[in-house]
Order: sequence, then structure tokens, then C-alpha cells
Amino acid sequence: MRNFIEDIENKIEIAKKRVGRENEEILLLVVSKTQSANKLIEVQKYGLNTFGENKVQELIEKYPLVENAKWHFIGHLQKNKVKYIIDKVDLIYSVDSLELAKEINKRAYSIGKLMPILIQINIAKEESKSGIFVEEFEAFMKDISIYENIIINGLMVIPPVNTDSLVTRNYFKVTRDLFNTMKTLDYKNFEIKYLSMGMTEDYELAIEEGSNIVRIGTGIFGKRAYKEE
Ligand SMILES: *Cc1c(COP(=O)(O)O)cnc(C)c1O
Repeated sequence: MRNFIEDIENKIEIAKKRVGRENEEILLLVVSKTQSANKLIEVQKYGLNTFGENKVQELIEKYPLVENAKWHFIGHLQKNKVKYIIDKVDLIYSVDSLELAKEINKRAYSIGKLMPILIQINIAKEESKSGIFVEEFEAFMKDISIYENIIINGLMVIPPVNTDSLVTRNYFKVTRDLFNTMKTLDYKNFEIKYLSMGMTEDYELAIEEGSNIVRIGTGIFGKRAYKEE
């Protein structure tokens, strides 16, 4: 595992240099879904401490078992489950509806928290993916700006799998342009700073196109073994 992490960290540095971003910070988010708490504790020994989970149940099970960790929620979030994680996570990546934003806002307010979130973009209008469409972007930004207990920190995208890298690069570019547009919007609950793009297969490309949070699971732990549901 140590070699995998070192290799990824080196590749991140090299990708940053290629595009003159060596002074910028990039978060390596450890995507820990399906991994045991002990595995996460092992990863902490190599200096990585922010974990991405995509299932509420799994997050609340691991949460008490891994000390001093930071938790990010990267999966599709159901409204009725917001209350279970609102006090546990530092960033929610996957806001894609006003109903969800409203519920997060309400739960954050009830515990006196300002909840940082990213908005997910469904860049290729895939049925299987969550996220708002590019056409909805402007109206969505305006509508979400009324919620006082959420802080909008930026965007997250998952491009289609098995596409040509030129096509993937273009999806990243379009998302980065939206991210830059967000920085110019003058809404009170906007603090635009995170652009999360890139997973094991495409994180170097994503960094070249401006990502500052890469989400990596397989590259650190190897192929995931899913339990039978
Ligand atoms: C699983 C997952 C990842 C990590 O994917 P790998 O290919 O294993 O690196 C990244 N982002 C999201 C939203 C995920 O669900």
C-alpha cells in the first residue's frame, strides 16, 4: 500500500509541474468505500487522513473506529439520511437538487453548523449518474444561494467511464470553466475553492485541467471486493 501511495503522490507532483501548478495544494482524498476500518488506520500511517465514503450506513459504522480522521461524503445522498451524517462530515460532494440543499440547510441550522458542499455536475447527461446538467447551472446557482447554513465550495464531476482521454479532458475543461464562472458570482454563501475531478484512471489528466481534489480508491487499495447485497 505504501508503494501505491508514494507512486500516486509522485504522479500528482509531476502532473502539477507539467502545468505550472507546483505551488498549489491538491487534496488526495482516500476513497475508502468497502474498505475496513483497519485499512484506513493503516493509510493514516502514511500521512493521509481524509476519507471519502459513498454510503451513509458505512460511514457511520467506520466513523467511531478511525480516530482523528476527516470524512467527506461523495455518494448520492438521500434526503432522509442527511440527519445521520450532518455532524460527521466536512464536505458533501454530491448536491444536485434544491430539495437536498434545503434539507442539508435545515439540518445544519439545527446543530448550529455551516455545512460546506460541492455541487455535482452530470456532464454527459448520463441516466446512471446524479448531478445537474450544464444547462441548469446558472439557475441552480441562483436558487441555491438563498440557503444560509450551507457554504457552496465548488463543483464535483464524474465523467463517463471508458471514453477516449480527449473526450474526458474536454469534460474536465467544461467543468473547470463552470468552476471559474462560479468564482465570479456574487452570492453570500459562495466560497468557491474546490474543484473535485479525477479518480484512479484519470487523476493526472484532471490535475492538468485544474482539479484540486482527486478521489482515489483502487489506486491505493487495489480492486474493490463488493459484498453481496
Ligand atoms: C468509488 C469512487 C471513486 C474512486 O474510484 P477509483 O476508480 O476506485 O479510484 C471516486 N469518486 C466517487 C464519487 C466514487 O464513488
